[in-house]
Amino acid sequence: MDRRVQKQEVLKWAFFESALDAILVIDEKRHVLSLNYAAETLFSLKASDVIGSDVVKLLPFYKFSSLQDGRTEHSLLISNREVTVEITVMAVAIEETVEYMLYIRNMTQEREAEKTLIEAKNRYENLFYSSPLAIMVHREEEVVSVNDAMIQLLGVTEDQLVGKSLYDFFSSEQVPDIKKGLKAVRDRKDEPRPPLAQLKMYNALGKELFLEVKSTLIQINGETLFQTVTRDVTEQKKAQESLQYMAFHDMLTDLPNRSMFSNIVEKSIDSAAASGKKLHFLFLDLDRFKQVNDTLGHHAGDQLMLQVVDRMKSCLRNQDVLSRFGGDEFLVLLHDRTDEEVRKICKSLNDCLSTPFVVLSRDVYLGVSIGVSLFPKDGKTLEVLVRHADLAMYEVKKQGRNHYLFYQKEMQVHTTRRMRIEDGLRKAFELGEMELHYQPKVNIQSGHIVGVEALIRWTHAKMGVISPAEFIPIAEETGVIVTLTKWVLKKACHQNKYWQLKGLPPLKMSVNISSVDFGTTDFVDYVLDVLREVELESRYLELEITESVTMKHVEQTIEKLQILKDAGVFISIDDFGSGYSSFSYIQKLPIHTLKIDRSFIKDLDPNTTEVSIVRAIITLAKSLQLSVVAEGVEEVEQVELLHKEKCDEVQGYYFSKPISAQEFYEKFHKIEEKMEFVH
Ligand code: C2E
Ligand code: CA
Ligand code: CA
Repeated sequence: MDRRVQKQEVLKWAFFESALDAILVIDEKRHVLSLNYAAETLFSLKASDVIGSDVVKLLPFYKFSSLQDGRTEHSLLISNREVTVEITVMAVAIEETVEYMLYIRNMTQEREAEKTLIEAKNRYENLFYSSPLAIMVHREEEVVSVNDAMIQLLGVTEDQLVGKSLYDFFSSEQVPDIKKGLKAVRDRKDEPRPPLAQLKMYNALGKELFLEVKSTLIQINGETLFQTVTRDVTEQKKAQESLQYMAFHDMLTDLPNRSMFSNIVEKSIDSAAASGKKLHFLFLDLDRFKQVNDTLGHHAGDQLMLQVVDRMKSCLRNQDVLSRFGGDEFLVLLHDRTDEEVRKICKSLNDCLSTPFVVLSRDVYLGVSIGVSLFPKDGKTLEVLVRHADLAMYEVKKQGRNHYLFYQKEMQVHTTRRMRIEDGLRKAFELGEMELHYQPKVNIQSGHIVGVEALIRWTHAKMGVISPAEFIPIAEETGVIVTLTKWVLKKACHQNKYWQLKGLPPLKMSVNISSVDFGTTDFVDYVLDVLREVELESRYLELEITESVTMKHVEQTIEKLQILKDAGVFISIDDFGSGYSSFSYIQKLPIHTLKIDRSFIKDLDPNTTEVSIVRAIITLAKSLQLSVVAEGVEEVEQVELLHKEKCDEVQGYYFSKPISAQEFYEKFHKIEEKMEFVH
């Protein structure tokens, strides 16, 4: 019997001593009767130090009343450290007396962990709710929480979002892709940078949105959730789309433009060559359109043009390709027709377009001259086919208009002017027939002239002044352009240095560079050699290149541009928007400036489509940290509008026509004074 009791006592003692919680046993007078090893450790003292003393010594807050009922939590100061304890009290009746067992659990670590968690949560929530970026926390599909920016972006109330399906905002075709994207995020937990995706969606107000989204995983209350951050790139995307569309369509008629037409034709020529089929090209030039346009005004001219296009379409089939080539010229591609069928089509176009049109309640008489060329008989490339169709059209004009002709070899005689130009170009430099003129570029903010563009002028001994628009393409085709550019570069740099020495504020000299120049192996070296020779700092030279320059041999071009850029030379994209531009492509080029094509500035007024295009170009340029120059600025209102749209520099007749070096030097201050009329 004794031994059994003894054994139980030993067992109890073992439990007591080995318990992880601190245990104090006290009597009714609050005196400590015993304590275990864990208690000694918690209070950092020896049992003998406290046995018999009032428990208040250890637990200052101790009151019977507060401890009698179950579990309470308290803060204690032990050796100057704050400790949180949870105390459970059990009363044990032993014979006549009652003893109390106090189980004391140290909760300090748990509480601290909770506290930092709450702090982190607060900090996160603060970030989340006040972020200007729209953020959403969601399970794969179900929305858990959203911030104000997200609510605003989606155009809903919080109630309409939380607990709802994310996929409600997307079309059903998009859902599989989104699921795939989220799965990728989930699978690639450790990837530091989650992929960025672009999404298109409609918000509750029906507004189309383009979003850049980035999802990451976060832990909230033990659950793994997605946190998706979105950036609204709608404005940028819209601007980009309109530019892309514009690159391939004629703004007024919506017809494919030159670039798109050549894309289509290239494919057609390949497949016709493979299948042995014929293609007919029609070069159409409207008769009298220019006169009508000049007398009735541009607006009426546009209306008339739309009527013309409608009539043309009625003479063609759907698979025929009608394209506006510029001005009042059109190109038509006909697939797999006999010559006889083509004659019929030409005849119907002639009939159709010579029937009077009604514009501003007036009868207007036009007509159309049509030249036809045939693949493969008259040429194997678009360029040759167009040239030959053009020659045939020219012959029609000579013979009295509103008619059509098929191209014939004898028509080649008309190239004589071209041959004289070709010939003359080779001698022009030695004969001193070439000269450079300069046109200022003015910074809109400061009103100061900051640069000039060098433009070549040719006065032929017999033919008189020949426009660069006519001879530059010929110089390019014959390769004379290489000599021409070298001459211009050297002369322009010398001139610029000379002006600096004469005390003009230093200017950036812009020189036009052709794609042929860029193709030569020594081009970059030549530029750098000239700068050295002239002792002109590279930042005072800018090269204007067209988009077509950069589309050829992309890799090498980028490499060459990069060398020039690294050397400090400025690079500008000329005639931007007139051609092949794909903005995503421009983005890759090492360039500084976009020069908006003259055609957009020409009719610039606050209500036209041009202003939205100009705005689009400026928006995109700014997003790529490029500066923007507008050329062809003729009216003060245009300067004002461009100022409002945050264009950086302007160039055009408003300030000055291209003028000789001497004249520029004399008029410098007069030109700057024109800024005083700009409000
Ligand atoms: P570009 O590079 O676009 O040059 C601007 C043209 O716009 C110049 O025509 C200029 O006289 C004209 N212009 C400037 N301001 C106005 C304005 O307010 N209103 C109007 N309607 N026109 C304005 P330009 O001198 O006849 O030159 C025609 C093109 O010939 C140039 O177009 C350029 O592509 C080429 N060109 C001229 N000089 C050179 C050259 O040295 N090298 C090369 N490769 N090309 C050149
Ligand atoms: Ca230019
Ligand atoms: Ca230009």
